[in-house]
Amino acid sequence: MFNSDQRAQVLRKNLIKDGKYLLSKIGGAGQDPGERKVLTEYFRYKDYVDDIKWINSTEIEKWSDNFLGFGENGFKKTEFQNPTYSASYNLKRDLSEFSKVFTMQVAGCNYSCNYCFVPRELNSANEKYGRFFSAEEIVDEFLRIKKQSEAPMNVIRISGGECMIILEIIIDVYAEMMKKSPDSYLWIDTNLSTLEIIKEYRSELQKVLSQKNVGIVGCFKGTTKEDFSIITGAEERFCKEQFETAKLLIELEADFYVYIPAYVYDKKHVEEKLEGFLFELQKVNKNLPLRLEMLKIEDFPAAKINFELAKKEGRSIPNTSQKAVFDLWYNKLLPKYYTEEELRKFCCEVEL
Ligand code: SF4
Repeated sequence: MFNSDQRAQVLRKNLIKDGKYLLSKIGGAGQDPGERKVLTEYFRYKDYVDDIKWINSTEIEKWSDNFLGFGENGFKKTEFQNPTYSASYNLKRDLSEFSKVFTMQVAGCNYSCNYCFVPRELNSANEKYGRFFSAEEIVDEFLRIKKQSEAPMNVIRISGGECMIILEIIIDVYAEMMKKSPDSYLWIDTNLSTLEIIKEYRSELQKVLSQKNVGIVGCFKGTTKEDFSIITGAEERFCKEQFETAKLLIELEADFYVYIPAYVYDKKHVEEKLEGFLFELQKVNKNLPLRLEMLKIEDFPAAKINFELAKKEGRSIPNTSQKAVFDLWYNKLLPKYYTEEELRKFCCEVEL
């Protein structure tokens, strides 16, 4: 197991050059089978809410129970509420404006998650697998592609890899976005592992995160420090940094959300582990569990390879059904601690 803080520092040196940021070359990398959503070699898009029933519903219906709760497949009806709902809620504009999301991946990550759908070489901060872009070039690409897009495209998403290893990219892209396309929304994905870097840039970051047109999601890795280490490959002691980082981001006035993969190791103690995790989230903020979206892990090509690599490194494979984990969290644990009224809210309607 490795030191993820140290890894972040090493990666950081190779991810910024002359005010430009290294982005992964996604095209041809095999992340998305068929490459349906690759826009150029370095940018792709994601439709966050795209089922036909949702698209054909009115705005009132889209904000109703019709899209909350479980579907027939045993998972949530709406797999990802945000950034679509958070942007619409905060900016008071139609949901359909924020479903198609322009996405880039910073080409380095300080974790090696077993379920990661990004090929490891794309997360190694190696120029061979990416290209340096300035914030200006990134926003210009966004505007060029937005112009050609049939569906509205108003969200820029900075993902990874781990973008907060070089969080200057967030500050620069936001400034550029506000200069050239102030009606847009910025969405940030983080793995909550860069506490010291965030502290260093605290005030500049707060100026961005506290804006209405910015949202951020922190992906927790596992419900306990043991599971965290199996999933990420990092030492167990770094698990607590996730909670400290979440707390700090909320202090910086971020519109903050949570993900967790539906992976729990050790069949016998699934509920106990999930409940312990819920308590830890509540220590950060009493309503934070209501802002969590559980991730169903898919069998993407690179994820299969990453799983095999993790197995060879001695990390065990999850032995619990993802459906069972979803069921326990949403149908047993949340109702134990929150009222029906609270449970009928979309994540963005929950106050922190
Ligand atoms: S899942 Fe996210 S945090 Fe984990 S290795 Fe992949 S990019 Fe990094």
